[in-house]
Amino acid sequence: MFIRLLSWSIIAGLALAGGLMAHRDGKWVAWNLWFQEWVSGTDQAAASVRFQVDLVDRLNYARIGAKLPVLRVDTELERWLQSEFPTMVLGDVNSITRRVQEAVPRYFRVSVCTASGPTLATLLDQFHDFCQQTGPEMTHLACAVRQSPGGLGHHALFVVGQRLEDFSPEIISKTKEEAFFSTCLHCQHPHIVRISRQQHSLGLECPQCRRTYAVVAADAAGKYRYVNEYLTGYAPPAAFSKDHSRVHELFTIWSAVHANCVYTKDPGAAKEATDSWQTSLETQRMGQGDCEDSAIFLCDWLLSRGFQARVALGRFGDMGGHAWVVVKLDDKEYLLESTEGRPDLSNPPLVTRVGSRYVPEIMFDRYSLYVRHTPGQAWKGDYWSAKVWTKVEPRTLEARIRAFSSAADGSSGSQGEASDSSVQRVARTSRPNPAVAPFMELEEIPKDASVWQMPLSLGQGNSDGAGVSGGE
Ligand SMILES: [Zn+2]
Repeated sequence: MFIRLLSWSIIAGLALAGGLMAHRDGKWVAWNLWFQEWVSGTDQAAASVRFQVDLVDRLNYARIGAKLPVLRVDTELERWLQSEFPTMVLGDVNSITRRVQEAVPRYFRVSVCTASGPTLATLLDQFHDFCQQTGPEMTHLACAVRQSPGGLGHHALFVVGQRLEDFSPEIISKTKEEAFFSTCLHCQHPHIVRISRQQHSLGLECPQCRRTYAVVAADAAGKYRYVNEYLTGYAPPAAFSKDHSRVHELFTIWSAVHANCVYTKDPGAAKEATDSWQTSLETQRMGQGDCEDSAIFLCDWLLSRGFQARVALGRFGDMGGHAWVVVKLDDKEYLLESTEGRPDLSNPPLVTRVGSRYVPEIMFDRYSLYVRHTPGQAWKGDYWSAKVWTKVEPRTLEARIRAFSSAADGSSGSQGEASDSSVQRVARTSRPNPAVAPFMELEEIPKDASVWQMPLSLGQGNSDGAGVSGGE
């Protein structure tokens, strides 16, 4: 009896001391609030929705006060939080940050804050400092709430981050951002692409498989396109002699391009910003261009005449970056140096004869990019083998990136399958967007343009009087 009395008084004493300490720490108010919440039986779901709205409001009020753009709720991130948060261990904020970036890899910067307390109102106060300090580069947010076991309190997780735009040539032309989200067209690896606007042409290389899967270049106005979309369907009005062979026609076009494009040296690394790319029509109008301009001019015209042709980008000897054209005709491979053009029918420029110093890394035609399986390795001179080259269509990239996001949303089926099937569905039906790319310039050649009589009567490489002002 005495022992029981003693233990009851100890328990009562501890409870009183605890209550006093809580009161001194100001926790009493919180527990009181919790008690009221518990007694009134507030609907938990409605309360947590109101809590999230209040939290977002507080954060955005602070941002408006600091003249920063307001943050938007990211539904993709929120769906992921809703499914993961109930079982998440809250101790290690760094590991939560890592998990967020793995789950939604389009986040460049992520800032995570957790809070626990007896009521949602106390959580709101705990997030106060965090709400005052979100960086100017942040764009989106998401949060999740759960009750602790037994319903005696709440835990909340608040994520603020910089969500990147999907990569496309149009978006880098439009914004000043330097980081974008992309997915490799070879291995599907999602990753962040960083752009240097110092360079007018840039290749997108996958950090996982180390292969290039798209190349973009800017024109003189600073507008970027995929390099293959510089082949715009150029077909100048030209009459070809009917009794000439295809090889003769090939050489005729080659020399006409050379005669109408005075070679201007690539400005080099120091002035790389001025090395903008030109379409065939621009090169024809200006009458000059560097190696890739004349290669595009030549290749585009050859494609319009039904030749199997590609622009090759790579190295020439020790000279560094260079561009040229390769053509396959009657099982023979020709290598056309577009900055020169003195065709000799008796001594054709076959790859086997002239190609030893040309080492390609990338090729393209109107729709596709061809990437070497083993970049940087010894080059054996096969421009057409599927064993050496992987073909990718850069325009399918946007569908691929979108498909990655919808697969990551946790829809049924494995992620890989979901992504593949939706991409194939898009890829089969998609053609380059006429609003941004090929074939628009065909109409820019005036209907009354004079017709070139091919071959042009050339003054031995002299571009004067070659009759190519027909487009003006
Ligand atoms: Zn890859």
